[in-house]
Amino acid sequence: MCWQEMETGVGQIPERARAVIIGGGVSGCSVAYHLAKAGWTDIVLLERKQLTSGTTWHAAGLIGQLRGSANMTRLAKYSADLYVKLAAETGVETGMRQVGSISVALTRERHEELLRQATVARIFDVEVHEISPAEVKARYPHLNVSDVVGAVALPLDGQCDPANIAMALAKGARMRGAQIFEHTKVTGVTKVAGRVTGVDYIGAEGEPGHIAADVVVNCGGMWGRDLAEQSGVTLPLHACEHFYLITEPVEGLGHLPVLRVPDECAYYKSDAGKMMIGAFEPKAKPWGMGGIREDFMFDTLPEDWDHFQPILEHAMNRMPLFETAGIHTFFNGPESFTPDDRYYLGEAPEVAGYWIAAGYNSVGIAGSGGAGMALAHWITEGEAPFDLWEVDIRRAQPFQRNRKYLRERVTETLGLLYADHFPYRQVETSRGVRRTPLHAHLKARGAVFGEVAGWERANWFANEGQEREYRYSWKRQNWFGNQRAEHLAVRNGVGLFDMSSFGKIRVEGRDACAFLNRVCANQIDVATGRIVYTQMLNRKGGIESDLTVTRLSETAFLLVVPGATLQRDLAWLRRHLGEDFAVITDVTAGEAVLCLMGPKARDVMRAVSPADFSNAGHPFGTAREIEVGMGLARAHRVTYVGELGWELYVSADQAAHVFEAVEEAGAEHGLKLCGIHTLDSCRIEKAYRHFGHDITDEDHVLEAGLGFAVKTGKGDFIGRDAVLAKQEAGLSRRMVQFRLTDPEPLMFHNEAVVRDGKIVGPVTSGNYGHFLGGAVGLGYVPCKGESEADVLASRYEIEIAGVRHAAVASLVPMHDPKSERVKG
Ligand SMILES: Cc1cc2nc3c(=O)[nH]c(=O)nc-3n(C[C@H](O)[C@H](O)[C@H](O)COP(=O)(O)OP(=O)(O)OC[C@H]3O[C@@H](n4cnc5c(N)ncnc54)[C@H](O)[C@@H]3O)c2cc1C
Repeated sequence: MCWQEMETGVGQIPERARAVIIGGGVSGCSVAYHLAKAGWTDIVLLERKQLTSGTTWHAAGLIGQLRGSANMTRLAKYSADLYVKLAAETGVETGMRQVGSISVALTRERHEELLRQATVARIFDVEVHEISPAEVKARYPHLNVSDVVGAVALPLDGQCDPANIAMALAKGARMRGAQIFEHTKVTGVTKVAGRVTGVDYIGAEGEPGHIAADVVVNCGGMWGRDLAEQSGVTLPLHACEHFYLITEPVEGLGHLPVLRVPDECAYYKSDAGKMMIGAFEPKAKPWGMGGIREDFMFDTLPEDWDHFQPILEHAMNRMPLFETAGIHTFFNGPESFTPDDRYYLGEAPEVAGYWIAAGYNSVGIAGSGGAGMALAHWITEGEAPFDLWEVDIRRAQPFQRNRKYLRERVTETLGLLYADHFPYRQVETSRGVRRTPLHAHLKARGAVFGEVAGWERANWFANEGQEREYRYSWKRQNWFGNQRAEHLAVRNGVGLFDMSSFGKIRVEGRDACAFLNRVCANQIDVATGRIVYTQMLNRKGGIESDLTVTRLSETAFLLVVPGATLQRDLAWLRRHLGEDFAVITDVTAGEAVLCLMGPKARDVMRAVSPADFSNAGHPFGTAREIEVGMGLARAHRVTYVGELGWELYVSADQAAHVFEAVEEAGAEHGLKLCGIHTLDSCRIEKAYRHFGHDITDEDHVLEAGLGFAVKTGKGDFIGRDAVLAKQEAGLSRRMVQFRLTDPEPLMFHNEAVVRDGKIVGPVTSGNYGHFLGGAVGLGYVPCKGESEADVLASRYEIEIAGVRHAAVASLVPMHDPKSERVKG
């Protein structure tokens, strides 16, 4: 059956539905398909024009399975598997063929990246082969391989007809009862008391209407941002022009795998005897800044040969047939891009019942199958099927709604998809939006900044006269020596970090304590001034948040969370507040945080403040107000680097003064300014977990090795039953710390943990242990029915870019295992 013949919009638009899906591109069709498959048959999809008429109809149709992490790969693989079966299920031909794909490297650095990706593929069970330039030539006779350094092939990657994939999903949804109405534009999402109540629309005849619904899903593609904005929902995306070119038929082309030449920003695909080349140029053209024309439907954008020329020139050398083949189509169409090149899924923190699946960064066809499945699961079951933090809408920052910011950033993110994905790579556009009160001070002292959640953070400090730029590499980068000096200062002397980007949340009110004790696993009902390290768990015992809670008074608490998770944590707290009487306030910008860490931290504190910093006067895990210089601070005796130290929370207006006072007092003790890279290398030696990498909502708190922070005896809390159940059943896997015995290789994350010769999982995070003398990483090891001794009795290696390196394993932190230094 031809997709254009499919019936849509027959019958009356209902006045009520369980869910309304806005947008009939591949995303909306997939969400509808999966909701219907999950048994939600009373659902309606509204499309302002015709199905697929936005971005979906003109996609190139590449279906790759390999992504940067286990769960993203799981979703992409799910899509590929689904699309293979969809035609038989729905009768709509999808054109899906598993032609395989090849990625070639033209530089050693890129080759290293490809080999690292191949290791990732092996961890996630995606079939992959490393192939030589000669093998590439054998599979792609038209290709010039004279400068190809190496390549990898994924035989089960595919290509498809994108519009028909969407139509098949729509058909599958309708077969299960979903209703689809075209030429019906949603004009607004209605809400009452922060919860969705339905949508207003204008129908095909111009008639206004309303559908009452508890669940609304914004699948509006590049229209999604403005639609969300109307409801006060943050959905930061912006369209860019996206190009490909198709030749006239080329004789004897045959069936070729999809080919990616990322070093030339290009991909190639053969279809129906023609050759296609698509571009991921380094500087893209944003589109639709002034809004999108009302009658936009199956539109194309104007050709821009000048813009495409550099890509085409490379193509003529790479595949000389482009010199002679005539041009059949020059295509330019808009697609949504996001500030971090990852799409958005999940419930908007601002409005309950407002869900999102949008912003696909040119992988919406490959991504939507899995994304639709995951979102439907999330909506119907109330929780995500597995950790989706990478694409979670709660990572979006409110300021990212700003269109100038978005417009500038997406010029870069499109091209980044094919750029070298070096570790620690920083974005270059739209910088400087969020600065700490100490930014200028740090800059003047050599700080080289990186960006997280819009925050400019000092990542490392350049020496006098040293270039203040990153020189990226898969090997030691130009700041390795700076990190080493900072790291050793923290271990042997004293270092000062600006951690003002920490998220800070005040929870106050009559029920604040009871509320926090319900959402946190540790005992929060402690004496005023005590600091509690804890996790917020979900019902499965997975970790939703990793934080400290400081009791400021009988009824007031300060929660400190990573800057990147603040919106997520606020949303989790607000969602679980229920009838408890407590006020939750984001106070992040009000206080700067200076972390003074190292064995000499006490000496510096004594020099800058008259307070008592002895163990008796200021014990570990407590906070109190102190005088610093001529100002005041709240000193928290905690650490994330595994040393004696204090975190100074300073009112933003006094931050610069306190910084100067500490700096001056620290001079005679060798105080060194330190960056985030050093924070990370120190914390990994101490095996402190990092949320989003080592611990996620999928990782059980006991398996993460954080049982010491769980108090099942305190009474009920979210996740308690799952903790008790796991205690009863025993652990299935355990977090283990690894150190490479060879001091040379580096671990970042996603290297493979190899146990007795067999890959058992990824390294969840890694950095260089300058004090321990080698790369250090964390990772989970399966251990069903095994004792700790059994786990440690194995032989461990870490596979990096295909090479296996011997590793030492430990279940206790390799640095300061008894926390003697921390409590010193
Ligand atoms: C040149 C090019 C090549 C590409 N190649 C590939 C590829 O090879 N592989 C791949 O995976 N991806 C590819 N993509 C990306 C892919 O096409 C998109 O990611 C995907 O189509 C996005 O789907 P969507 O449903 O989110 O958006 P859309 O298809 O744009 O759907 C959104 C729909 O919402 C409707 N809508 C908006 N507002 C409203 C409203 N208020 N009421 C009702 N309806 C509304 C719109 O009319 C539209 O139909 C490519 C994109 C381009 C431009």
